Amino acid sequence: MRCRLCDSDRLVSVLDLGATPPCEKFLTAAELDLPEPTYPLHLRLCEDCLLLQIPALITPEETFTEYAYFSSFSDSWVGHAKLFVERSIERLELNSDCFIVEVASNDGYLLQHAVSAGIPCLGIEPSVNVGAAARDRGVPTITAFLDQELARAVREEHGPANLLVANNVYAHIPDLVGFTASLRTLLAEDGWLSIEVHHALNLVTLGQFDTIYHEHFQYYTVLSAQRALATAGLTVVDVELLGTHGGSLRIWARPEAVAEPGERVAQVLALEAAAGLHEVSGYLDLRPRAETVRQELLRFLLEAKASGRRVVGYGAPGKGNTLLNYCGIRPDLLEYTVDRNPYKHGRFTPGTRIPVHPPERIDADRPDVVLVLPWNLEAEITAQLRHVTGWGGEIVYPLPTLHHATLDDAAASELAGRHTK
Ligand SMILES: [Zn+2]
Repeated sequence: MRCRLCDSDRLVSVLDLGATPPCEKFLTAAELDLPEPTYPLHLRLCEDCLLLQIPALITPEETFTEYAYFSSFSDSWVGHAKLFVERSIERLELNSDCFIVEVASNDGYLLQHAVSAGIPCLGIEPSVNVGAAARDRGVPTITAFLDQELARAVREEHGPANLLVANNVYAHIPDLVGFTASLRTLLAEDGWLSIEVHHALNLVTLGQFDTIYHEHFQYYTVLSAQRALATAGLTVVDVELLGTHGGSLRIWARPEAVAEPGERVAQVLALEAAAGLHEVSGYLDLRPRAETVRQELLRFLLEAKASGRRVVGYGAPGKGNTLLNYCGIRPDLLEYTVDRNPYKHGRFTPGTRIPVHPPERIDADRPDVVLVLPWNLEAEITAQLRHVTGWGGEIVYPLPTLHHATLDDAAASELAGRHTK
């Protein structure tokens, strides 16, 4: 096994989550009687370049041809994208002569705001069903994976991108060096590349182990992202810390010749160094943190079961499936979960086979406890579930440590969320 960034063979084990099915492979009722393949989920760290990574056992082609994740199902995510587009237009002085490209543009949740601002744009999205939803809302979208050939063809036909957006995709690429070169090909000589990825600082220090799944091949600090981007002559010039996905990085990079790194780059690097993440030992606390989450959650669910209380889930995100599989939670402990995405209704969670219903099911059933799986949306979801407390129901979040939501907490974290966006 070798590091996909620097080709070193010095990979050290950080956290072994066992073997699980792909986290978005929800099962139909008929599939419950078929074999369900599992793949090892073992996080390792390269001792030479400090890139956190898992082996690429499932190709993006297998994952993303028909994908269940539609970004527009999250209100806060669409709002986040709108604000990003508005601020980018202002900061980079974008106008109708410019060109915005988004890689992994999903259902057009972001580029729809470029369309309404009158700025030419193009989405590149591999999932057939998700890309079709983008075209339906008027966002020009190619169904494809980005590679050098496609990057050259897009540049030839439309010109280079003044703003190139790669949100929540830079972790999903097994050919990291080739993909980075394709980004460089698409980008104008004075262009801006904006990348959003989960920050490994939060993954490690807050024990967010459920953000590890087969589709996420690598997990970045600013340090390792700098090293990856440098392979294609791109320099990190600015870094923003975002509240999304439990703490993300927005990395701004530009071609070396025009790059002038701002002071926020050094500030975030200093935060990472202070947390011990510029050396191997800082990563080794993740395993005991994950074990604690598992033990606390299981103890809570077993006690609820013993006292005859009904526990159901809210949300069926990919991260939820890492959590459920690692903890070994099945329908005896979590009767069902609900999700706003109709694609998942009537299906079952991969591996743990917990039924997924529409959210209205909770109102009809009035369970004693609602365990929220997308804990990264705590403020938004607590607000949506406020009425559960009306019948005496509890709202519980598993991370960073098991805790109950309260209405006061919801208001407070909503405020905190606004500050970070
Ligand atoms: Zn390496």
